Amino acid sequence: MRITIIGYGMAGARLATLLAREHDVTVYGAEPHAAYNRILLSGLLAGAYQETDLALPASNVDLRLGVTAIDVDRVARTVDGEPYDALVLATGSRAIIPPIKGLTCDDGDLHPNVAAFRTLEDCRRILSATGSHPVVLGGGLLGVEAARGLAGRGPVTLVHGAPHLLERQLDPAGGAVLADTLAAMGITVRVDAQAVAYADGVLRLADGTELPADPLVVSCGVRAETTLAESIGLAVGRGVLVDDELRASDPDIYAIGDCAEHRNTVYGLVAPAWEQAAVLAGVLGEVAAARSSGARPGDGSSVRYTGSRLVTRLKAAGIDLAAMGHLDGEENLSFTDPSRGTYARLAITDGRLRGAILIGDNPTVGTITQLFDRRTPVPADRRSLLLGRISAAAAPAETPALMPDAAVVCRCNTVTKGDIVRCGGRTVPQIAERTNATTGCGGCTDAVRGIADWLSTVDPVMEEV
Ligand SMILES: Cc1cc2nc3c(=O)[nH]c(=O)nc-3n(C[C@H](O)[C@H](O)[C@H](O)COP(=O)(O)OP(=O)(O)OC[C@H]3O[C@@H](n4cnc5c(N)ncnc54)[C@H](O)[C@@H]3O)c2cc1C
Repeated sequence: MRITIIGYGMAGARLATLLAREHDVTVYGAEPHAAYNRILLSGLLAGAYQETDLALPASNVDLRLGVTAIDVDRVARTVDGEPYDALVLATGSRAIIPPIKGLTCDDGDLHPNVAAFRTLEDCRRILSATGSHPVVLGGGLLGVEAARGLAGRGPVTLVHGAPHLLERQLDPAGGAVLADTLAAMGITVRVDAQAVAYADGVLRLADGTELPADPLVVSCGVRAETTLAESIGLAVGRGVLVDDELRASDPDIYAIGDCAEHRNTVYGLVAPAWEQAAVLAGVLGEVAAARSSGARPGDGSSVRYTGSRLVTRLKAAGIDLAAMGHLDGEENLSFTDPSRGTYARLAITDGRLRGAILIGDNPTVGTITQLFDRRTPVPADRRSLLLGRISAAAAPAETPALMPDAAVVCRCNTVTKGDIVRCGGRTVPQIAERTNATTGCGGCTDAVRGIADWLSTVDPVMEEV
């Protein structure tokens, strides 16, 4: 089947890899370089990675790099005049640049001292800036990651319009603990601060404060990139509307990743994007099989995407933060230790975890994430869970031997302990190659290494598999 993918980011590249063997695949990528691991850009900013470390696996497809696809004819089913049987939109999201005077020039381009934080090109721009007063505008996840990345080079100011940092993930107490943690790293946090203008390297706030800001990194959220979808008349809400087969309002067009809206949700995260890529590869396999047997495509398709359960982790050096679910439980427990930068909050309903925030050194983060993922009842001794002193008998196991097969180890790729055991690998690179575990944010590498070491001890023969 001829499949055209528009967008060569994290979702498009994963889908291309999954489809390359069975189908005739063409991919359009507006960025001039091969697909890269976008979520490691903050590590690039911090100097923890080189550009080459970000490369995603290449696949044997017809790649059109540096080409923005605009010419789609839904009736003739062509892109740039070339026919497709199925078209996939994986156009991602774009950074929001707020309408603050001076951020952009008359021609609409960003001011030379201003950069967004979305692409490799943005990172190059930030890293090549010569100014010595970096300011990050926007205290969401990426803004905090950017500020942490820049903090290695000297003092940084983080300006945020809301009353506390990460207001979508944290409550005010959690936001305050995070601000203290950042302050200890040389980052001055200004909350409730409305930026009103930028001129001559100075950012002016609504209260009259003038902050030297060079470079100024704008991290004020993202919006699904739906320009093309809208221009060809697809149904679009906050993203391209798709059903459980990731099919848009045209039966031959699909959408995945940041640009897709599924059941009222635009995820903007990589784990759902990769889950959607895997489901869509299955759907397109069935469509191809149906076509070759003469059935109507889509009839009897057995593969479905039903949504993802999200855990947000901040992956900046020296900041441990996990937030999940909703904080409106029947039981609400919290613990703060400002001197150690620790905060934990649990929301429990019907004896199960509805949401949680964990900041700082919290030994039960793995246990709490498993309880949330698997919707298993929380232990009766809530205090131990909150204080990080849960007994092994009461909790889902942290040690590989006792960890259930269904426990998710790599969240970006939804790889369970069972998947790792069954893949036969006994080293991290072998497991990464066979399951993709560790290839997203890399946050699970220690856990995967622990399982690999344990397997090598208890089942070394499997190494030959
Ligand atoms: C700095 C940073 C850190 C992040 N950290 C995390 C994290 O820790 N965890 C997490 O889950 N997520 C994180 N994210 C979000 C994650 O990167 C996205 O969810 C993921 O990249 C979505 O993949 P995508 O393919 O849908 O979109 P993208 O990766 O944005 O790729 C879309 C591609 O499509 C191209 N495109 C758009 N329109 C066209 C067109 N008409 N023709 C051709 N090409 C087109 C774009 O140029 C782009 O290259 C982070 C993002 C950033 C920027």
